[in-house]
Amino acid sequence: MNRALPLLLMWLLSYASLHAAETPPNFVIIFADDLGYGDLSCYGHPTIATPHLDQMAAEGMRFTQFYVGASVCTPSRAALMTGRLPVRNGMCSDKRRVLFPDSKSGLPASEVTLAEALRERGYVSGCFGKWHLGHLPPHLPTNNGFDTYFGIPYSNDMDRVGGEAPKGRAAFLDPKVEYFNCPLMRDLEIVERPADQTTITRRYAQEAIGFIRKHKSDPFFVYLPHNLPHVPLFRSPEFEGRSRRGLYGDVIEEIDWTVGQVLQALRDEGLAENTLVFFTSDNGPWLIFGDHGGSAGLLKDGKGCTWEGGMREPAIAWWPGHVPAGKVNRELATTMDLYTTCITLAGGQIPQDRVVDGLDLTPTLLGTGPSPRDTVYYYRGQTLMAVRHGPWKAHFRTQGAYGADSKERKAHDPPLLFNLDVDPSERDNVNAAHPEVIATIRTIVADHESKLEIPPSELEK
Ligand code: MG
Repeated sequence: MNRALPLLLMWLLSYASLHAAETPPNFVIIFADDLGYGDLSCYGHPTIATPHLDQMAAEGMRFTQFYVGASVCTPSRAALMTGRLPVRNGMCSDKRRVLFPDSKSGLPASEVTLAEALRERGYVSGCFGKWHLGHLPPHLPTNNGFDTYFGIPYSNDMDRVGGEAPKGRAAFLDPKVEYFNCPLMRDLEIVERPADQTTITRRYAQEAIGFIRKHKSDPFFVYLPHNLPHVPLFRSPEFEGRSRRGLYGDVIEEIDWTVGQVLQALRDEGLAENTLVFFTSDNGPWLIFGDHGGSAGLLKDGKGCTWEGGMREPAIAWWPGHVPAGKVNRELATTMDLYTTCITLAGGQIPQDRVVDGLDLTPTLLGTGPSPRDTVYYYRGQTLMAVRHGPWKAHFRTQGAYGADSKERKAHDPPLLFNLDVDPSERDNVNAAHPEVIATIRTIVADHESKLEIPPSELEK
């Protein structure tokens, strides 16, 4: 016994350390829809209360310069799921900005989704919410790497009903569930229509939590893309009249509450220290909807354009014991980098047979080194509008967000130039004073475009 015991102990210790090294983290990505940079209390909103996201930021890392791949839903989601600029994967268009219920296509089968890459490493994946990468069977989540799906497959304002329902903006400003005949799907089947949007936020979170509990012994990836706060706005009876910001604030506060529920489930299951949770949104606030749309805070403009308010988002990372607590990260990062970072942390392989735009954020996420990213590309459809390099952002073309000036595109030669470190609101064009910066950015653009192959748009099919 006394000779076998040390041997057994040694074997147990080596097994435990080997096992620990081989246990990759779980991933939970919570994606809001049309949430603005200024809409959370930890990003400065004066009257919306987001105690759970604030706590998540206090226990984790809050990014101040985090970008999405496009300023509208479909291409932004395609960037997150593939780690690639939408101009490379066919999921953008200069004619149709997103997929609609009459669209015939969606995410190409040749793309390697984050769920597909993680499946190679033994992960199970669940998608709970708005997909918007194609609602026909080949393009739905369960045919793109996810083991299960529950959600509205596109935006919550699509499938407007006619008849007695109010026309135009009136249906949004006093929304009723029955005005929007959106399908709610489980895997490939429609299970409810119209989807009861008053409870949709909490149902998505409950489904995600159920999946986490069921798969607590497996490596898992939970993708939780909420339909809200995209208009029309809905919240459950428990959140009616809760926020001083009105209906929009109620919606954000319910999303915030569900984030708290997800984090608590991870703590309860003993998974907190082995799960990276990331919260962000797909694009900036939809400003034409007045107080039904959010706020980009000090950033210019909103959803649909390539000013900062369209593409810079709140972003919070949480992974107790790994992501340093209470840190504000002011480096550049994008949703495409989440793709590469998650696959890298899982010990997986980034696709080598194509250009992947995502970079590995692990050093900046763990506080051990800088972000590898120094450049951000701002596309509108298939058109490159602006490029950021370090603090400098050059606009070669500008066009307004959805609204009165959204049709008018202006070309700029030389490009407009802003130093976002000192001028985050893009007010003072300093192009005359910095020709050398413009020359550097022109070189970056020439290199980028020389390697770019633009496939046919799936959104035009
Ligand atoms: Mg959106």
